[in-house]
Amino acid sequence: MKSIIEQAKYSHSLEKNDIIHLLANSGSDELLFKTANQLREEYLGKEVHLRALIEFSNVCKRNCFYCGLRSENKKAERYRLSPEQIIATANLAISKGYKTVVLQSGEDAYYTVKILAEIIKEVKKNDVAVTLSIGEMSYDDYAVLKLAGADRFLLRIETTDKDLYKKFHPNMSYENRLRCLFDLKKLGYETGTGCLVGLPEQTLESLAEDILFFKKLDADMVGIGPFIPHPDTPLANSGAGDFYLALKVMSIIRLLLPYANIPATTAMETLHKNGRRIALESGANVVMPNFTALDYQKKYEIYPDKILVDYSKIVEELTVLGRTVSKQKGNRKGK
Ligand code: SAM
Ligand code: SF4
Repeated sequence: MKSIIEQAKYSHSLEKNDIIHLLANSGSDELLFKTANQLREEYLGKEVHLRALIEFSNVCKRNCFYCGLRSENKKAERYRLSPEQIIATANLAISKGYKTVVLQSGEDAYYTVKILAEIIKEVKKNDVAVTLSIGEMSYDDYAVLKLAGADRFLLRIETTDKDLYKKFHPNMSYENRLRCLFDLKKLGYETGTGCLVGLPEQTLESLAEDILFFKKLDADMVGIGPFIPHPDTPLANSGAGDFYLALKVMSIIRLLLPYANIPATTAMETLHKNGRRIALESGANVVMPNFTALDYQKKYEIYPDKILVDYSKIVEELTVLGRTVSKQKGNRKGK
């Protein structure tokens, strides 16, 4: 296994069987994490990019089995931020020094493309990057938002296992998800994707396929979320994903995509008390502090006990790790 990791360090490629082997065995985990950390240092340096996350609506027409925001969860207290509130929150984040604003929501038709474009144009009057994470849309709608100034888009494939995808995403289509990702690439968005780790019935083979898919897409950003069960969803009684398995998936992605922007995800931090530090030392170079007003943040309950990421604590922690907060927008390097 040592030689697989050594070889991948230079070739940035791995066979599916080798990935499965790495995921199934723990003997070389320390070497894997160390190598991913070395590659992050070599390709991207010590800088960590902080992205201000603004969760502007928890209304969603979709019904993903794992997510607390699914439309059939009648217990969720829904909210929407007005365009003015969204712009004010973004401006506050910018005044604090953030160089990227991430606008995230459920799939909420209240925000027409026209409204979204106006919000983006307003935020882009500042020298910042705007990332959207608002779900599936048509090519034309993605094009309008790109023209309005959006720079990046996050849309996880969630799982490349078509049977699992179908099972956990009623009335959604895997093919359309793929179409969205390739449209985003074509339109020039920096495109982020990712998967959930620990979904019921998910196999190591399907995780290996997920990893190879990110490489094939040449994803600019990859977010790995260990699955955390939400009590008001059909997966309430399923066990949570394994933190270390999610960490291994993340580190292997660093081996294959040395320039990609990879966050220490909130789900990782939620599952493990030192999750952020461990992820940052195993290949991650991005943190997404939540900038949503606290009242709304609590209602944006994708899964329970979501950690509240405290900005000053992050800076303190980065200093201890010998890392620095980037003052740049943090576009994907190496293109
Ligand atoms: N609605 C948009 C979408 O689905 O792309 C953006 C918001 S959605 C809440 C963001 C991400 O939350 C999803 O891509 C999914 O991977 C993650 N998520 C949802 N439920 C989760 C859970 N129970 N555990 C971990 N991550 C979860
Ligand atoms: Fe909606 Fe996204 Fe949650 Fe699915 S994951 S229910 S699309 S908010």
